[in-house]
Amino acid sequence: MKPTKIVCVGRNYAAHARELGNEVPDEPLLFFKPPSTLVEPGESIVLPTGLGRVDFEGEIGVWIGRRARRVGVDQAWACTAGVAPLNDVTARELQRREKQWARAKGCDTFCPVGAPVPVAERDLPGLEVITRVNGVVRQHGRAADMVFSIPFLIAHISAYMTLEPGDLIATGTPDGVGPLAPGDEVEVEIPGVGRLLNPVVVDEP
Ligand code: MG
Repeated sequence: MKPTKIVCVGRNYAAHARELGNEVPDEPLLFFKPPSTLVEPGESIVLPTGLGRVDFEGEIGVWIGRRARRVGVDQAWACTAGVAPLNDVTARELQRREKQWARAKGCDTFCPVGAPVPVAERDLPGLEVITRVNGVVRQHGRAADMVFSIPFLIAHISAYMTLEPGDLIATGTPDGVGPLAPGDEVEVEIPGVGRLLNPVVVDEP
């Protein structure tokens, strides 16, 4: 599925907002990654030269399965195709310097994601997301700890922009984010759903 857009949610876990010195927002904080960021499981994350520190952000990705426009929270989950592990790769120093995150979040290869796996709505609060770098656990979040629930996020986004089949939502990262280095292998796992493993390389001009 090729998304028309990748809609991302910032600061959706209170502990992660705090670790970067940010407040928890009153409403979902939305931004985009362009579809040109997408890479598949096993493909390389390419660190751009000259942009400073680049971080992993393991997240629960949600693939849209049918058009959603102004859907209610109760109808939101029926519009999805499933969830998948996702890595919202971020040029952290650049993100701090710039008010718009188009570059910090939007470089080529900055959105590894898996294929959609159907999940029952009642099982959403029990989902967990674990990030490992070179086999060491760095993040372990629970969907139950999200500031805004997944159905709420879908309903909220669809109030402003029509979600099309194949669109992707990155639902925010838990605390524990950290930098990637060339030669690393970063894995995002949603237990019971799947694993996403990507090697990290440096850009060779
Ligand atoms: Mg993120």
